[in-house]
Amino acid sequence: MSGIHRTKIEWADSTWNPITGCLHGCPHCYAAVMVKRFGPQHGEWPEEVNTCELTYRTDGAEYTCYEIEEPVKMYDAAGGNYIRTCPYPKGFIPTLHKYKLSHLADAKTPRRIFVGSMCDIFGEWVPMDWIEKVFGQCRAYTQHVYMFLTQNPERMLKFAQNDYLPKGDNFWYGSTITTADKQLFFSGDHNTFASVEPMLGEFVDLPKQWIPPDWIIVGPLNGPGAKAHRPKSEWIEKLGSECKEVGIPLFMKKELATVYGAGNLLKEYPEKMLKHIEVHAANYPAYRGKLLYVEFDGQHVKLSDLSTTTGIPYPALYERYKKGDVEAYIKKRLATGASPGKKYRERKSDE
Ligand code: SF4
Repeated sequence: MSGIHRTKIEWADSTWNPITGCLHGCPHCYAAVMVKRFGPQHGEWPEEVNTCELTYRTDGAEYTCYEIEEPVKMYDAAGGNYIRTCPYPKGFIPTLHKYKLSHLADAKTPRRIFVGSMCDIFGEWVPMDWIEKVFGQCRAYTQHVYMFLTQNPERMLKFAQNDYLPKGDNFWYGSTITTADKQLFFSGDHNTFASVEPMLGEFVDLPKQWIPPDWIIVGPLNGPGAKAHRPKSEWIEKLGSECKEVGIPLFMKKELATVYGAGNLLKEYPEKMLKHIEVHAANYPAYRGKLLYVEFDGQHVKLSDLSTTTGIPYPALYERYKKGDVEAYIKKRLATGASPGKKYRERKSDE
């Protein structure tokens, strides 16, 4: 089974989690919720094979972490019967799932992969050789775009200063910031992004820093407390106009629709990120551009989604994409009789 999973995270195509577990303790952590749900449950016993506990010492601190060779099976306490295979047998304690390192080899077609959505790979407690193993795999499969996100930009910076961070159009390094006083990883030699999520305040001049991020993602708080911490429409407007002024692509998450309007949400990606996927897609016939984004009605939309929403078959859209006039083609087709799909009809009737 491939460990490269399709994801609902809007700005990525897939996630890959050879490392799980995190000690930051952020409130509203989605990963912690998933671990609670799919980690060990009452009455389950893990088979303790191929699991190694180790202590990682760094800068005077000591951390317990685990390395697991194979997926861990869970048995019921009473009868010893097999129940399931557990994805997080050590809960939220930092764990390297060694068997997942090879999973990149199964993901043939180019895609944007969020590496480490269930951890912070740059957390101080993550052993250096784990990170090197992950980078080694990423370097081996050049067709993908790899996106790393941290709450610890200081360690990312140390890696960059020591020349440990892979460079290239397909490596992207992000920092999560929720308020304007938080630190960002910045670098003139690497592709960087800021994930402003949840947006808990106004971000003035974020796109105008000395070395600005190459891409900005913005989203609101989800779940409990979301209403009380809803970002203001003016904050989003301001960020959007500053990004436009200096030419930084901005991706607004769909949850911002309630404050900013679904039709106003920008879904922009850095050109070189999309270009990397497109260029490498040429080597993968099965891919046929399914992850390509095009501009349509002022938005960046996935080409395959446009096929669904307009009712125009994907191969026809892909051919027009190659000729560079998708938008004009769709409008012409719709005007001359192609049956628009349900979602497109709904969207149009909302306008
Ligand atoms: S850094 Fe990410 S994974 Fe770690 S606690 Fe915070 S939200 Fe969760």
